[in-house]
Amino acid sequence: MQEDSPVQNENTPDTAPTEQPQRPRRRNRLVVLGAAALIALGLGGVVVATTGTDHPAPTAVSLDAQSRNEAASRADRSARESSTPVTPSASPSATSASPAPTKTVAAKAEPKPKPKKTTKPTPAWVDPMPGATVTSCYGQRWGTLHAGIDLALPSGTPIRAAAAGTVTQAGDAADGYGNSVFIDHGTGYLTHYAHQSRIAVTVGQRVKAGQIIGYEGATGDATGPHLHFEVHQGMWNQIDPAPFMRAHGVDLGC
Ligand SMILES: [Zn+2]
Repeated sequence: MQEDSPVQNENTPDTAPTEQPQRPRRRNRLVVLGAAALIALGLGGVVVATTGTDHPAPTAVSLDAQSRNEAASRADRSARESSTPVTPSASPSATSASPAPTKTVAAKAEPKPKPKKTTKPTPAWVDPMPGATVTSCYGQRWGTLHAGIDLALPSGTPIRAAAAGTVTQAGDAADGYGNSVFIDHGTGYLTHYAHQSRIAVTVGQRVKAGQIIGYEGATGDATGPHLHFEVHQGMWNQIDPAPFMRAHGVDLGC
């Protein structure tokens, strides 16, 4: 019993007196646990690190060293050998510099079609005075050839170039046409716009299809405001504008 009692005493006194030692034990335990945790973590990290690095590390280091040496020698070789290729590499850089301006050219070419797109809605040939009433077509009239189509709208209505071209005549030639404009389209055909109240272009001026060249009026031999529109297949060889314009996608109504 005494043996037991001292054991119990040891147990009981352990609790009392050994509270102090238990604290260090606990502290030790905590320290141990903490150390174990740290070790575990450290080991884990080390393990991870080692598993990640150990096997590759030594081999990689050795390989790295070898590969570095080899790479250094290769680099030296390549540098030596590529001393000549370096200049061709410089020449491709020059060629790469040349495609750069081509890119800029392409970039310049891109915005060019953009304004073309803005003008693309305007077809190659357009109605010189849209919405007008046809008062007279091409043909014999009163014993003479009416060599154009008469298009009527209130005086001052803008007259537009039927197609792109160059203004070859602009003014009043005192020939009955009043203020008239000739546009040479460069295809052997010219268009003629007569009886204008006011001319908006000058000789030699380049005009685009649909561009305003003047304003409708009744100058010259005209009974009232209208556009006398002619198409010349060669200067002063008037043809019927109706089929010609229709062939170019414009129906003038005759
Ligand atoms: Zn006429």
